[in-house]
Amino acid sequence: MAETIEELEIRCRSCTKCPLSETRKNLVFGVGNKDADIMFIGEGPGEQEDLQGYPFVGRSGQLLDKYLEIIDLDRKKNIYIANMVKCRPPQNRDPKSEETEMCIGWLRSQFKIIRPKIIVCLGRIAAQRLISPDFRVTKQHGEFVEKNGVLMMGTFHPSALLRNPSQKSIALEDFQKLRTKIKELGIRI
Ligand code: SF4
Repeated sequence: MAETIEELEIRCRSCTKCPLSETRKNLVFGVGNKDADIMFIGEGPGEQEDLQGYPFVGRSGQLLDKYLEIIDLDRKKNIYIANMVKCRPPQNRDPKSEETEMCIGWLRSQFKIIRPKIIVCLGRIAAQRLISPDFRVTKQHGEFVEKNGVLMMGTFHPSALLRNPSQKSIALEDFQKLRTKIKELGIRI
């Protein structure tokens, strides 16, 4: 019988494949509806996420939730949110490529179980690994590309928007494009 998302999470919680396991307080597996057609993928847990074991909490999470609400999405109902790495990189540095490579098997397994129709990459780290190695968020944000039968789009990471508020309206347009795409595809949310 195929593994469930709950069984996968239990296995993932004891992962020590990369050195990030040594400094994590909590592993941040992901959250949301396991039957969702839309997944959002960030980089890795920050301090609050590590403390709470939950992705996108704190100010960046609040901003993400606000944008989601505008387009009728809700992490408790109709999407699933995860990160490229499940354990916090110290001092909130970017995950190293070797850490991402060691962790990506968990994300692939999440994709396999959830089988999203649309994947939204939040920020450069996710977009460069999942969409294209030379992905430029400032240039290619909001563009949909198909990969292996899944539509993928990259946009700004909410933390980047907190640092550069001038990009907030552009990011909101990306979310509105996502809403249009959901309607075009007839996805029920
Ligand atoms: S970051 Fe990923 S690969 Fe590294 S220990 Fe955590 S779950 Fe395992």
